Amino acid sequence: MTNATTESRTFEADVSRLLHMMVHSVYSDRDVFLRELISNAADACEKLRYESIATPTLIGDTGKLAITVTADPEAGKLTISDNGIGMSRDELIEALGTIARSGTRAFMEQVEAAKGKDGAQLIGQFGVGFYSAFMVAAEVDVVSRRAGSGEAWHWTSNGKGEFSVAPAAIEDAPERGTRVVLTLLDNAKTYAERWTLERIVKAQSGHVPVPIYLVEKPGAEPTSLADGAALWTKPKSEIRPEDYADFYRSVAAQYDEPAATIHFRAEGRHEYTTLAFVPGSKPFDLLDADRKGRMKLYVKRVFITDEAELLPRYLRFVRGLVDTADLPLNVSREMIQDSPLLAAIRKGVTNRILADLGKMAETDADAFGEIWANFGPVIKEGLYEDYERREQLLTLARFATTTTGGLRSLKDYVVALRENQTAIYYIVGDDPARIATSPQLEGFRARGIEVLLLSDPVDGFWVSSAPDYEGKPFKSVTQGAADLGLIPLLNGEATPRAESTPEVATLLEAMKLTLADEVADVRASDRLTESAVCLVAPDTGPDRQFEKLLSAAGRIDDTTKPILEINGQHPLIVGLAGLQDELLRDDLAHLLLDEARILDGERPGDARSFSERLGRLIAKAVR
Ligand code: ADP
Ligand code: MG
Repeated sequence: MTNATTESRTFEADVSRLLHMMVHSVYSDRDVFLRELISNAADACEKLRYESIATPTLIGDTGKLAITVTADPEAGKLTISDNGIGMSRDELIEALGTIARSGTRAFMEQVEAAKGKDGAQLIGQFGVGFYSAFMVAAEVDVVSRRAGSGEAWHWTSNGKGEFSVAPAAIEDAPERGTRVVLTLLDNAKTYAERWTLERIVKAQSGHVPVPIYLVEKPGAEPTSLADGAALWTKPKSEIRPEDYADFYRSVAAQYDEPAATIHFRAEGRHEYTTLAFVPGSKPFDLLDADRKGRMKLYVKRVFITDEAELLPRYLRFVRGLVDTADLPLNVSREMIQDSPLLAAIRKGVTNRILADLGKMAETDADAFGEIWANFGPVIKEGLYEDYERREQLLTLARFATTTTGGLRSLKDYVVALRENQTAIYYIVGDDPARIATSPQLEGFRARGIEVLLLSDPVDGFWVSSAPDYEGKPFKSVTQGAADLGLIPLLNGEATPRAESTPEVATLLEAMKLTLADEVADVRASDRLTESAVCLVAPDTGPDRQFEKLLSAAGRIDDTTKPILEINGQHPLIVGLAGLQDELLRDDLAHLLLDEARILDGERPGDARSFSERLGRLIAKAVR
């Protein structure tokens, strides 16, 4: 034995904070602790199943894997035991003294953000793991014996900052696996009652892939609470929606309702079963930098790994599993990477999920709209990562546009094209409210031309990878000449000539000189009907907002000089064109440029000269 005495340790600081929260929890749905302990027990059984493929002696002939919930109402105790993989001394200290899993970390961050009482409500959403036992227990004892080991260890804590670990007498220890004993708080004694346990286990854990038994008091015969059958192997007709929902919650570690369920069996050259879910809300790791998926790979009902990347990154929010009999159980990491079967599965499952989402988009716009609101920004990554499916993804995509009344598809857009309109117009920017009121949109509005309002961070990327849809190119309304002259105004009037008077033409030339350092050109605009000025990108340069994004991300050093467009009809411009005062003209040209910048969500080029010029103007006005 490595350490024959009891050793006390303090919890990692984050665990102490989490425990404090559990001990003082006012969270009303304390039942969730049982779901957490049972899911740990089931994980331990799945790990053993997997490890014993390489080392069959681990599982030996100790009978079936099972989870047993034992109540002792008289003593006020509840025990959850499993004959799974078990934990060594070091594993106990590591697993039950620190916070390893990112889900729990994410929970802690949310609690910090939510401050105080609201944190309690988050417990149910996140699933905070083992430590949730302290919501109902004054003391937790864990006795564990690692599969194949001759020693057993006893971990104990009252959840108040410290735990201790000591060797456990082998005759009191499980033959293999883990026993978690809760000494229930006075106000939690109901968790030692048969009816409570039956109800909770059936509702929360009825579909974990390991059978669960209940022993209602010490010495009683075990009764079965859940058969551990793999739900995905059952025929669809025998599965109720609530079965799917239960299973979703246990496989996805999400505690809401699935927004879509995709269950199918592929037959033919490759055989596999998929049960996948689109979550009803955003998983906490959706925007993690590693962008990893969580689909699980099973071989003949044995859990192998959740790192097989069974879906493209842009579908990483999908939860569930693929089970195939066509891989060997002892499949290695390398095999998984190079397997043509897995490549075929990846393709098949991706196609199916996109097809199902596509159908849903057609038949149930509201439900799909919710999915799109949660995951659209992620799915759109596929527009530049998965060229093969770009058309399909574009068809699936929904957009906010200048046409009000909900999200629009590109199909809707194309149907509503105006006479002579050849492009799909868009505007990008990070602030949805600001882009919707951009001056650059005025000429489009006046002609009834719909414009896509793109405000997700990924939008700049896919849209600038120059896609088209049904032969219509995407075109930024803030880039190049707008060429709107051919499209009639809604009010039936002819498009006014942009340079209305010779004075305005002269003004353009003068402004070009004045602003030469800051803009590439000053020209009359097709875009503007109400505002006096706006900024656009040159015909060949990148969209200005996209360029800003790239420069903020450090991807480019320099930004291109914009073009200042002016509205030759605007009284301000007409007035300016007639002005004789050189200094004032100069000031106004600069101020108009700064105004255009501000309208684009930028700052004036030089705050000091901006304020001096404005000052001179105000001085004139109040004199
Ligand atoms: P998670 O299950 O998400 O990893 P938990 O807080 O529920 O987080 O559990 C922490 C860790 O403790 C687990 O990852 C596992 O290593 C270990 N553990 C908990 N319960 C058991 C058990 N019954 N058998 C084996 N290991 C367990
Ligand atoms: Mg767990």
